[in-house]
Amino acid sequence: MEKSVFKKIYEIFKKEKGEIFLVGGSVRDMLMNKELTDFDFATSLPPQKTRETLNKNKIKNFPVGIAFGTVGAIIDGKEVHITTYRKKETYRPRNRKPAVEFGETLKEDLKRRDFTINTLAISPDGKIIDMYNGAKDLSEKLILTPSNPDESFEDDPLRILRAFRFQSQLGFKIENTTYKAIEKNAFRLMYISEERIQAEMTKLLLGDFVVKALAEMMNAKVLNFFIPELYPLKNLHQESEQHHKDVWLHTLKVVENTPKDATLRWATLLHDIGKPYVKAEEKDQIHFYRHEELGAKMAYSILSRLKFPKELKEDISFLISKHMRANLYTPEWTDSAVRRFIKEMGARLDKVLILSRCDITSYRKEKVREKIKMLDELSERINSLNSIKGLKYPLSGNDIMEYFNLPPGRLIGKIKEFVMNEVIEGRLPQETKKEIYFEAASTFLRSITKKSKN
Ligand code: ATP
Ligand code: MG
Repeated sequence: MEKSVFKKIYEIFKKEKGEIFLVGGSVRDMLMNKELTDFDFATSLPPQKTRETLNKNKIKNFPVGIAFGTVGAIIDGKEVHITTYRKKETYRPRNRKPAVEFGETLKEDLKRRDFTINTLAISPDGKIIDMYNGAKDLSEKLILTPSNPDESFEDDPLRILRAFRFQSQLGFKIENTTYKAIEKNAFRLMYISEERIQAEMTKLLLGDFVVKALAEMMNAKVLNFFIPELYPLKNLHQESEQHHKDVWLHTLKVVENTPKDATLRWATLLHDIGKPYVKAEEKDQIHFYRHEELGAKMAYSILSRLKFPKELKEDISFLISKHMRANLYTPEWTDSAVRRFIKEMGARLDKVLILSRCDITSYRKEKVREKIKMLDELSERINSLNSIKGLKYPLSGNDIMEYFNLPPGRLIGKIKEFVMNEVIEGRLPQETKKEIYFEAASTFLRSITKKSKN
């Protein structure tokens, strides 16, 4: 399948005397025996000519970023990207988008790439082209720039973040000279668009080696230039005995425990950021009252800064605001307490429970076992009451206005909530005739009108 994609492309371009090579991440992943998800090609033909060539051969194509010289095409049902050779690009802080100039040769196109492991290419006859030592660095698992790292990071500071992103995905080491240049140039991340940072950070958070990458980012003070709120977690101790993990190490542990899901991983990364600001010591106990509420607010503004869509911001900050709830569970909770918990968590219930589970990182084994046991019990009780999860209001506002002949107003909402609550608390059945609900609503209405008369 994949071979046929290459062959087809190569033949078509050869007829037009265009050079074309498979390049970048595609070649890297292929040499690492990974399944290819991206097919990136580089060509000597200008974008317009690429499109004409594809059209001539009846291959569906579309502009992806014509300003960047990229054309998308569908070949054998796969989307491929074909980009015209480029010259080294310099990132201009003022307009915050790289300026693009097309290049003449494959060599200069490969030279402007971020890391040596991304400079490999495969020629039409299947030969590996390795002009910047990429194969060796790939086998030695090293991340380094193909040219002077200081210049490279100045040209496009996002590469600093990409270095850690590849470290997180591949488990590679950042080579020393490149690492030093990262420390020196980290401040330049202040001038990168938030959208680009967000995209790289999310990929980074989903990597297999995320903890190593985050730990090094903290040490290199890279995080400080786009999520400075994380810095105070370092050396913030939660137990009077200082040998315990600080909040940053705890956070890393929690991220490590978290399944690969962007919402969950962002939530775990930020779940304790409120702690530094509410630390209180009482006798020999340390408390962080309401850190989850403050943390949720802080997370919302961090995510706004990074231009996250509203829904994701709301999900993540909701998870943070509730991350303490499930771990407060005790067997004394009544069924209605469990029902209220289910209702409060709504559609995010499953994720709240996952986050709570990941948050258990104590050194003391019995403590961990005890807490997990409680969460298991809570989950079991939730499952047995599960039908309440998608509960809709038994009576709608319209039902109530019609039945009692009332005008719209706050009273309607009150009655609606009352009936719902009776169901949640188990005093009214979940599915029954509406009359039963109306009856309960009448009693409630009488009781409040009586109260207001007195
Ligand atoms: P992924 O598997 O996540 O797509 P990738 O290596 O393909 O990883 P992309 O962001 O898709 O990464 O970029 C494709 C290629 O373009 C890279 O392999 C690299 O050669 C080059 N590249 C991308 N971004 C930059 C950059 N900011 N500076 C230099 N080269 C870059
Ligand atoms: Mg790619």
